[in-house]
Parts: sequence; structure tokens; C-alpha cells
Amino acid sequence: MSAPTGAAPTGAGNGATALAVIEFAADGRATGHRMASPDEPQLLVSDLAATRGDGIFETISLGGGRAQALEPHLTRFGHSAAMLDLPAPDAEVWRAAVLAVADAIGPVDEGFVKIVLTRGVEGADIPTGWAFGAVSPEFTAARTEGLRIVLLDRGYRHDIAQTSPWLLAGAKTLSYAVNRSAFREAARRGADDALFVSSDGYLLEGPVSTLILTSGSRMLTPRTDLGILAGTTQYDLFEFGRERGYETAYELLTPADLTTADGAWLVSSVRHAAPVRAVDGVERPVDRALSDAMNDFLRARTE
Ligand code: PLP
Repeated sequence: MSAPTGAAPTGAGNGATALAVIEFAADGRATGHRMASPDEPQLLVSDLAATRGDGIFETISLGGGRAQALEPHLTRFGHSAAMLDLPAPDAEVWRAAVLAVADAIGPVDEGFVKIVLTRGVEGADIPTGWAFGAVSPEFTAARTEGLRIVLLDRGYRHDIAQTSPWLLAGAKTLSYAVNRSAFREAARRGADDALFVSSDGYLLEGPVSTLILTSGSRMLTPRTDLGILAGTTQYDLFEFGRERGYETAYELLTPADLTTADGAWLVSSVRHAAPVRAVDGVERPVDRALSDAMNDFLRARTE
């Protein structure tokens, strides 16, 4: 771990960090941002983010200091806000905050900016928001050697986004205690990560990632109407796939499809493409060359 150096951005943990706090007018409108210290308290204990996990977030990767897939992340942020009846985030304000934080972090090889919008302090009716940036952890082993995953029953049918929209399936909410719990269950079973399966037997998503399969000349991912997030990384990797001659498709997939697939990856903004090397203790082949090419493609994204 490197020690903090220099005045701004302040350093902590594995490298530089930076913070922009979104400013809101009394009517709840976002008016801009101010840079703040990431090492000092900024949140009131009565903020609904802290007391109820009532808010939304996005994590945008920085490649060479550039924010990647920023517009799709901002679009999804708006979609999550609408699902939670939060005020629509002003894309211009949030974009400027992300770019300011990226700028403060500097041209690091790999970093991220996490943007958070909460319902604010209980009773105040003014949202809270911030953009926090840091250097990314090291993911080389996951990208090259791959992940051992377990299939975990999510306990919901595949159609709950349609039947029970109040469950907020498919919104990127701050309530990730269940997602973290799934990681701990995976670790208890000797694995690195998990893949959720609907109670009626369809593959969904990882706790923080999207599934991609290759099967012959096809590149597949679970349909986005299954109460899962529409992944920005998966979207970009479908472009990679088409450039390589794959036919890409969103489908209803089952554990049997995972077993027979040529390749399987859990993909996400910061870790990028991590091949699956074992499912429930059963080893499966890893296409190292294709994984490397996917990660090179993701690293080279400029928008
Ligand atoms: N699914 C869930 C539940 C996630 O939390 C994430 C990212 O954190 C993803 C999928 C992958 O989304 P993206 O590729 O846009 O990072």
C-alpha cells in the first residue's frame, strides 16, 4: 500500500481518492458540486442511505484516468432513480462531478468513481449525493485464472420485475447487504463468487456482475427483463463479440446452458471480464486468449 502523498487528491488505502459532493437547492434541485475531503465525515447519521439503504448508485471505471461508459451509467442511474421515485438526477451536474473526480485522481491505470444519490436526511425532502473516486484493487488473478462460482437460489421467480415492481429488482439500489451475503456464502462453499438463479430455474446475474456465455458462434446473456441490471460491460462486450463474428443474443438461460457453454464470464465495470473456471466445484475450461482479448478491449474503451 502506498502512503498518501501530496495535497490533493488526498490519499488513503491503496492510492489516491477524491470526492465531489453534489449541492442541492431547497427545492431538491441539483445545482452543482463542490470538492470535499474524502477523509473527513460528510454524511449525517439520519441520512436515509445510512438508516435504510434508501438510495441508488453506479460505479464507473476509469481507464488511464478516463471515465468509461459514462453515458450508459448516467442513463441507468436515471432509470434506478425513476424506479425508486427519487428526483431525476441532472445528468449535466453528475457528469461534471464524475469528470472532476476523475481529474483529481489523475491518469491512474485503473480506478473507479462511485456515484451515490440518496433520499437525504429523513424528513428534509432534499436528496444527498456524491461522487467518490479511488484507485481500483488488483484483479489480475480473477481476469486470468478465473473464478470458482456457486449457483445460489435467489428465491424469486424470473418474472418478478413484471409481477412485483415494488421489489425494485433491476434497480441499482444501495441495499447491497444481500449481495455481500451471497459473497460470504460463496466463500463458505470454497468459491470466489456467485451466480443467482431464479426460483423457477433461470440464470440471472452475479451479486455485482453480468453473465456472458459463448456457445459455438453465439454470445449470450440472460434477458434484461428478469429483474436484473442491464450491464454496461456486457453491452460493450457484445460489440466486441460482434466484431469477432459472434451472433449476440439476450435469452432465457438455464444451468444446463452454463454446463454446455464453451465459455462463461462474470463481467462488470471495475473487475471487467473474469472467466468462470468452476461451477459448484466442477471445473470447466477457461479460454485465456479470449478473456485477455475481452479485457484488452474493455481497457481500451475511450468513452
Ligand atoms: N449486476 C449487478 C447486480 C451489479 O451490481 C453490477 C455492477 O455492479 C452488474 C450487474 C454489472 O454492471 P456493469 O457492467 O454496468 O458494471
